[in-house]
Amino acid sequence: MPITAREWHLAARPHGEPTPDDFALVEVEHPDPAEGQVVVRMVAMSVDPYMRGRMRLGPSYAAPWEVGEVMKGGAVGRVVESRSPDVPEGALVLADAAWRDVAVLDARSVRQLPPTGDLPLTYSLGILGMPGHTAYAGLFRVGAFREGDVVFVSGAAGAVGSAVGQFARLRGASAVVGSAGTPEKVAWLREIGFTAAFDYHDGRVKDLLAQAAPDGIDVFFDNVGGEHLDAALGALHVHGRAVICGSISTYNATETVPGPANFSSLMISKRLAVSGLLVSDHPDLYREFAETVSGWIRSGELTVRETVYEGLENAVPAFLDLLKGANTGKMVVRLAPDPD
Ligand code: NDP
Repeated sequence: MPITAREWHLAARPHGEPTPDDFALVEVEHPDPAEGQVVVRMVAMSVDPYMRGRMRLGPSYAAPWEVGEVMKGGAVGRVVESRSPDVPEGALVLADAAWRDVAVLDARSVRQLPPTGDLPLTYSLGILGMPGHTAYAGLFRVGAFREGDVVFVSGAAGAVGSAVGQFARLRGASAVVGSAGTPEKVAWLREIGFTAAFDYHDGRVKDLLAQAAPDGIDVFFDNVGGEHLDAALGALHVHGRAVICGSISTYNATETVPGPANFSSLMISKRLAVSGLLVSDHPDLYREFAETVSGWIRSGELTVRETVYEGLENAVPAFLDLLKGANTGKMVVRLAPDPD
């Protein structure tokens, strides 16, 4: 019997900020699984800032999504039917499954998850998944973090940022500074061990950073770009390192965004290392990352927070709100309770 799924399609390419009209919820029938395929009923799906980039045409490290096609993205779920000897019925899996409630997938394309024990399955989309892996590879490998460093992270109350700041603290940073968009987020950053935090709406980032890190910084982990990047390059010490992870302040831009001021002279005078980061370049770090970070969660040294929207129909509000900063920690959309 064909499998009926509800899924979100890209209805139009947004110009500037996306709106609900850019998406369409449709019902589709998938054929029965073929040999080597599994049917997965989704428990939760991820919305991530990079998805904004896939909605536009233009140069990117990945192909844009087509109008009329399903929105892609990471999801976790349970195999309810299997025609593969490798992935049994009942298995919990992580898949690039798209914004849908049920999917027919090649068994080779899903990653089986170990039983999560006391941890929610949604952690595989956040702290123990792609965002956590990004933070780990970005800080420790690309940013060449060293004990005693002063670290500044922008977008610090988000999925990647809150992981970066806490990883730095746990590995012996002498100070960890974070910026975020609301007073509540700033208070939460202090609660989870940031040395200093500021709301970037409270003045010029350059001035706020100078107050928070008066002696300058060694590592800048950038999720935001724009004014944050400008300010942080100015605050970096000689031989400082900047990890360019994201530039969410520019994702809805409709015009070319200028680069940092005085970039060349800062690079030369301070011999800065400014490195782009792409998490998919670091699969070899995955096992070390997952073991280390699950240890920190279980020991209580690492605080994990999620913002959860319920139901597939709320996937679009979750995505639009993520871009506007409604989340603290990882934004996820829950489609069903965790299986027992
Ligand atoms: P977050 O959980 O950090 O959510 C996005 C946050 O961005 C919002 O909560 C909001 O917080 C902030 N934001 C939105 N608009 C602005 C703005 N104009 N200025 C400053 N902050 C803004 O998302 P993720 O942790 O998933 O991703 C963080 C960054 O990392 C993104 O830029 C993403 O593209 C990038 N990324 C890159 C990867 C790579 O391999 N290079 C992999 C994964 C993520 P606030 O209230 O503080 O404004």
